[in-house]
Amino acid sequence: SDVGSQKDRVVTEEEWLQKWEMGNIGFHKEQGHPLFQKYLDVLLNGKSGLRIFFPLCGKAVEMKWLADMGHSVVGVEVSEQAVKEFFSEHSLPYCEEPVPEISGAKMFQSTSGNISLYCCSIYDLSSSIVGKFDGVWDRGALVAVNPCDRQRYVSLMINLMEKNSSYLLVTVSYDPNKHKGPPFYVPESEIKSLFG
Ligand code: SAH
Repeated sequence: SDVGSQKDRVVTEEEWLQKWEMGNIGFHKEQGHPLFQKYLDVLLNGKSGLRIFFPLCGKAVEMKWLADMGHSVVGVEVSEQAVKEFFSEHSLPYCEEPVPEISGAKMFQSTSGNISLYCCSIYDLSSSIVGKFDGVWDRGALVAVNPCDRQRYVSLMINLMEKNSSYLLVTVSYDPNKHKGPPFYVPESEIKSLFG
């Protein structure tokens, strides 16, 4: 079946960079994701000043919204173009610095200090570098992770979470025999076994 053949399929970092270069970014939602608004209360739980993590963040506009609400946002994204587009499209001044613990990585931070985007692979991060988070917005992230890396991704995410944190996960339910993406199909049963 196609679920079986998806298991061995891989989207390389190079291919992601190319998608950004070509403007082949149909996944980006200029108006944000409708489920974000719907479940925002679950993420925030009425608290202020939270640290929220955006794995595989792209230029998700929800990062700006949360920062405007007074939370701190940390994202990770391999494409430097995506990170720069995020700041320029929201007219946010930023500075850029190397990340001493990760060779070749850069951290882009809004001048106001509450949005920090790491430009590197998520697998280079650890809680000793980015700390732990009160909330995670995972949209287009788990479903974009190569199936062979899912276990590693989820272990890292669990490691990055504070004890009383919330994880909002958006996946897409479809017949993988009829549709090829977005990019990978993650059945609910697998989500349960991955996150426990
Ligand atoms: N969450 C975003 C983007 C989803 S698309 C949104 O909602 O719009 C997945 C993104 O992950 C792409 O921008 C891609 O460049 C990035 N990406 C892919 N593999 C990555 C990795 N290993 N580490 C960090 N970013 C990665």
